Amino acid sequence: MKNQNSTTLSPEKQKQFDKRYLEMALVWSKNSYCKRRQVGALLVKDKMIISDGYNGTPSGFENNCEDPDNKTFPYVLHAEANAITKVAKSNNSSEGATLYVTTSPCMECSKLIIQAGITRVVYSYEYHATHGLDLLRKVGVEVVNFDLDQSDVEVDIHKTG
Ligand SMILES: [Zn+2]
Repeated sequence: MKNQNSTTLSPEKQKQFDKRYLEMALVWSKNSYCKRRQVGALLVKDKMIISDGYNGTPSGFENNCEDPDNKTFPYVLHAEANAITKVAKSNNSSEGATLYVTTSPCMECSKLIIQAGITRVVYSYEYHATHGLDLLRKVGVEVVNFDLDQSDVEVDIHKTG
C-alpha cells in the first residue's frame, strides 16, 4: 500500500522536514562517546521518530571506542546499525521508513538499511568511501544529500504552513 502521508508533502515542505530531522540527528550524535567521529541517526516513519542511534560500543561494553593508538575497536556499532537494531527490539517496523544520518552510510550499514526495508536515506556529510551510497542507489533506495553546513536552503517552517 502506498504511504499517502509522505507522497502528499510538497517538495518544499519535505525539505524543511529533512533539514529539521537531520539537525536533530546532529544533536543526537553528541551522545556518542567516540572521539574520532560522532555520528547520529534517526529513523522516521509517518512523521514520527521510531528509533535513534549514535555510534558506540554494544550494550555491556565499556564506553570507549578507541584503543590506545586511537584506532576504532572493531566491535563499535555505527549509528545506523544502532538505530536499526533498536527497532528490532521494539514493536515498530522500519519498513518504508526514512533514515536520517549525519554521515553517509558505509557498505555494512547500507546492507542493513536495505534489509530493514528503509526506502529513503538523508545524510549531511560524505563518508570517505561512497560504496554504501552506490549500493543503496542500485536497489532503488532514495538517497538525499543535505549539507547542513551550507545554509542555502532558507527554512522557515511557519511560512508555508
Ligand atoms: Zn556504517
